[in-house]
Amino acid sequence: MKFLKQVFHFGFAWCRWKLAGSPTRSPEEIRRLWLTCCGPCVHYHQDLEQCTICNCYVRDETDMKVNKLVYATERCPLKEPCFEREA
Ligand code: SF4
Repeated sequence: MKFLKQVFHFGFAWCRWKLAGSPTRSPEEIRRLWLTCCGPCVHYHQDLEQCTICNCYVRDETDMKVNKLVYATERCPLKEPCFEREA
């Protein structure tokens, strides 16, 4: 069930990203968000490389397919988000 939810969430996020014109964050911004937000976050699961709140993969990489930080249409899911959508 968790896997299906993850697939649905990714599909929805991907469509939103495509509809916005496929905007991506720069490698410098991805690095900054990694160092200041997800890397030190208590909700980051190091072994799974996932955020345990939204179950998205977050990594210190610019790999487009499997890193939430790359997609400028994505935000941190916390009530007081560590980073916002940029597009
Ligand atoms: S997306 Fe937000 S809650 Fe999730 S690991 Fe990153 S900073 Fe933490």
